[in-house]
Amino acid sequence: MRDLIRKLPKVELHLHLDGSLRGRTVLELAENRGLELPTYSLEELMEYLQVNDNCNSLAEYLEKFELPLKIMQTKEALTRVTYELIEDAALENIKYLEIRFAPLLSTEKLNAEEVMKAVLAGIEQGESDYDLQANLILCCMRHQDPSKSIEVAQLAIEYLDQGVVGLDLAGDEANFPPEEHEEAFKLATEAGLHRTVHAGEVAGAESVKKAIDYLNAERIGHGIRSNEDKETLETVKESGVTLEVCPTSNLHTNVITNLVQHPIREYYELGIPVTVSTDNRTVSDLTLSQEYLLLYEKLGFSLTDIWNLISSGIKASFITKEEKEKLIVNFKDEFKNITDYSL
Ligand SMILES: [Zn+2]
Repeated sequence: MRDLIRKLPKVELHLHLDGSLRGRTVLELAENRGLELPTYSLEELMEYLQVNDNCNSLAEYLEKFELPLKIMQTKEALTRVTYELIEDAALENIKYLEIRFAPLLSTEKLNAEEVMKAVLAGIEQGESDYDLQANLILCCMRHQDPSKSIEVAQLAIEYLDQGVVGLDLAGDEANFPPEEHEEAFKLATEAGLHRTVHAGEVAGAESVKKAIDYLNAERIGHGIRSNEDKETLETVKESGVTLEVCPTSNLHTNVITNLVQHPIREYYELGIPVTVSTDNRTVSDLTLSQEYLLLYEKLGFSLTDIWNLISSGIKASFITKEEKEKLIVNFKDEFKNITDYSL
């Protein structure tokens, strides 16, 4: 089953660039720039980049981004880490990928335009070497001033149709409510940019409702606490938003204490569109195939269920209707060849 899942064509929609750097690359890029690292042993370095079983909160989890962000301050680094992420995804047969990152967190030396061009160059190289299409989602950060979010929205709009497809709100959900960033998401909506918002991860159902009501979210990052309030659950169902669920990440941020408690099955059975992602490959030491295997082994998802999750991901992706239809047809063929399953 492990091998079969790895071979299945997949999409991943919730994946942070800064949480998915290869350890060896962090070492090499730091050495090239003469940057000081807490250790130069790869094994020890991974402890700074990955969570362990003692991680107790989202705040602790977010500390794992400090070192990658120190590295992601040059054009060379940005292009390389983007390319490598596409390579890692392609090696487990991901065919469509939405990579998200906060461009303003890489502007210690570069300007935002340089940051965008460097990341887009990584995508272009990745797409030319692998059979994978990738797009970008730009992240506004909750803790930053709302004017920064407007700046990110304007940047996303500038690069709309040139590799950027959406806007996200990420960061400390517990202390910074979504409505402060309403203006940025209004601009995005008006310009035809797609919207996804991290909500219902650390904060409760109300945060999900606000993401839909104030930020016009089409997808919710996590959203797993939507079931804490009946009205919110109804809103989620009626609005047709898709939940981007990342089970292992939820375990690592302590939103759930045991994978078997994860509500993904409940949402799936309620008919709420759900797509599965890793959130951060390096922080959680995870691949998308491993995530699907967990659903199969621990949460009773059959191969047909897995196909339904993958096709939900295609439907919720921020690409055109024609591109989605093409992916569905190609995926069905590939699925049939791999599994002998007729969908
Ligand atoms: Zn996330």
